Amino acid sequence: MTTPILYIVVPCYNEEEVLPETSKRLLEKLTSLIGRGRVRDESRILFVNDGSRDRTWEMISELAGSDVHFGGVKLSRNRGHQNALLAGLMTAKGNCDCCISMDADLQDDIEAVEGMLDRYMEGCDVVYGVRSSRETDTAFKRGTAQGYYKLMKAMGVDLVYNHADYRLLSDRALESLSGYREVNLFLRGIIPLVGYQSAEVTYERAERFAGESKYPLKKMLALAFDGITSFSVKPIRWVTLLGAVILCLSMLAALTGVITALVGRSVINWTLTSVWMMGGVQLLSLGIIGEYVGKIYTEVKDRPRFIIETVKLDTGRTE
Ligand code: UDP
Ligand code: MG
Repeated sequence: MTTPILYIVVPCYNEEEVLPETSKRLLEKLTSLIGRGRVRDESRILFVNDGSRDRTWEMISELAGSDVHFGGVKLSRNRGHQNALLAGLMTAKGNCDCCISMDADLQDDIEAVEGMLDRYMEGCDVVYGVRSSRETDTAFKRGTAQGYYKLMKAMGVDLVYNHADYRLLSDRALESLSGYREVNLFLRGIIPLVGYQSAEVTYERAERFAGESKYPLKKMLALAFDGITSFSVKPIRWVTLLGAVILCLSMLAALTGVITALVGRSVINWTLTSVWMMGGVQLLSLGIIGEYVGKIYTEVKDRPRFIIETVKLDTGRTE
């Protein structure tokens, strides 16, 4: 296989505190890769500004002006991590042989890039970065994440355990990914569906070295919920099942009511209880069905998932 062009795609939302250090470390890494002949000189580090409200875009523009290896994509507004990442990946598509996505805070060890490239050179189209431990996470984040993977598995969704959005994709995989048109984007669930030969590379996850998490609990829950309802219809089936069970139980309760009344003994008001239960089940079912109807609504509108305002990228390619 010939020496590849590598694109490193980094979504950034209000990351002015980490960008100077991140760009320095990434450029060092890329320069060393180029120097050792592992990747071609046309390789780039592509920052995607996800509608930041701080100086992030100014800094990205400066970087792009200072070194040809930096590139920037500016989204017209904040569209969230997954969409920002996709915008970067789609900009890389066609310009690179493979691309690696990672977070701006460098919590994912950039040394794993070497292993990913090795696997790519061996013929893998997808290489997942997998954390070896979660010691640096808070107990809460660790617990919820672990529970989530288990839940997704129960729902029949194929996820790579302890893998976030640190991964290598070949240009061919990017091309295939572009065929997935969904608006409710959960890349972790889509990539395994794209297929091709894949491998895993493990690394230690560090703590965020500056700034604070751009993933508050609310965003985390939204992503988790999207992951479930975009990939599995099992919740609907569970609700149906629950409805059936509750219906049987309340019928039994009604029967008990009738019999005890005939025998002439005082009864607990099972009938009322069952009405309340049914009410609860119906509300729950409606809510879940509504969730899917809402998804259909956003999907049929087929709105663009991101709008790129500016691209600052010198691909260095002539053709
Ligand atoms: N991010 C983004 N748009 C958002 C929120 C986050 O592009 O609306 C980026 C952020 O800049 C970072 C990555 O997504 O590069 C992961 O965010 P963060 O490190 O805050 O998440 P955590 O590691 O705490 O899960
Ligand atoms: Mg982080």
